[in-house]
Amino acid sequence: MKNYVEAIELWYQQNKRELPWRKDKDPYHVWISEIMLQQTRIEAVINYYQRFMKEIPDISSLATVKEDKLLKLWEGLGYYNRAKNLKKAAIQIEEEYQGNFPSTYEEMLRLPGIGIYTASAISSICFNEKQATIDGNVLRVYTRFYADKRNIDLDKTKKDIRKKIIEILPEDAGEFNEAMMEIGETVCLPNGLPRCKNCPLQEKCQANREKSYFQFPVKSPKRTKKEVKYTVLLLKYDSKIYIQQRKSSGLLENMWEFPNIEGNLSKDKIKKYLQNEKIPYTSIQKFISNTHIFTHQKWNMTSYLIESKKAQKEGKELSEIKKEYAIPTAFQPFLKALELQIKKEK
Ligand code: SF4
Repeated sequence: MKNYVEAIELWYQQNKRELPWRKDKDPYHVWISEIMLQQTRIEAVINYYQRFMKEIPDISSLATVKEDKLLKLWEGLGYYNRAKNLKKAAIQIEEEYQGNFPSTYEEMLRLPGIGIYTASAISSICFNEKQATIDGNVLRVYTRFYADKRNIDLDKTKKDIRKKIIEILPEDAGEFNEAMMEIGETVCLPNGLPRCKNCPLQEKCQANREKSYFQFPVKSPKRTKKEVKYTVLLLKYDSKIYIQQRKSSGLLENMWEFPNIEGNLSKDKIKKYLQNEKIPYTSIQKFISNTHIFTHQKWNMTSYLIESKKAQKEGKELSEIKKEYAIPTAFQPFLKALELQIKKEK
C-alpha cells in the first residue's frame, strides 16, 4: 500500500465530498462530527451537526448546556452517552486547558468519550500528528487490498493494521486518514459490489484481482440479540399525552418515554393493570406496533391508545413534547401515530 499513498491522496483531492465539518480544521468541529458519525451514516448526521453547531457553537457553550437541551439535540442519533460525554469533556477542557482543545493525541485520550479512533482523527486532521484512524471502512479497504484473512474484531488485528498504516502515513496524515475512510464509504462499499474501477488501489488490490471482496473483512459470528417484549401505554386526553422520565442509569437513561410494561399484554390484562395503578380511563384500544433494534437487544413493542384523565392532569401538550423532550427512536413511531390520531380527532 506504501506505493499507493500518493494515488490515494490525489484520489481524495478529486473525489472528496463537501461536508460541513470539512470547511475548516477546527478541533471542535471535527470532534463533534466524529462523535456523531460513530454508528451513524454521514447523510443522517449532516442535519444534526448543523443544528448542533447553531445551538452549541463552541466548547464553552457545550460545557454549560442543560442536559435536556443536549439530549433533545441528540434525539434520534442514539447512543446517548456520547452526548453526555461530550459535555463532560467540554467541562474538563474548560478546567484543564482554559477552553482550548488539547493539541496532542495523548491528552485527547484523557477526555471522556474519546478513544483511540477519535483521538487519532482529531490529532491527525487538526494537528497533523501521525496517528492512523482505523474504523470499519479502513479495515475493509485494508483487508481487501491484502486479502488479509485475520479476524478484524480482534484487538490484535486492529492494533497491527493501525501500526502498519502509521508506518506509511504521509506528511498530511489527516488527509490520508480521511481519504482511506472516504474510499471505504464511497467506493469499497460494505454492502453490494465495490466500485473497483473508481478505486485508486485497483491495480494491486488482491480482492479485486481475485474477485474475492465478499470474503473480506473476516469478522466474528454475530451474537444473537436478546428479544424483549413491551406493551406501551399511550395515555392521552385531547392533545395532551402522558410521558415519564427514564431512570438515571442504564439504557436510554434520563430520556423520556411512554409508560410501558414488559410482555405483550392483552387488553384485559391492561385493564387490570390500570385498575391496580388507579389510572382512570374512558376508552382503550389496540394501537400500533414497532420493533426497535439496539446493539444487544431487540424490542418488540405493541401499544394501546388509552383516553385517560391522568393525561389531562399530568400530561404535556404534544407540541411541547416535540419541542422540549428527548424521546428515544424506539418510541418515536408511537409519537408520530399519536400526532396523526390527534389530527384526525380535530
Ligand atoms: Fe475495495 Fe475494489 Fe478498491 Fe480493492 S480495488 S480496495 S476491493 S474498491
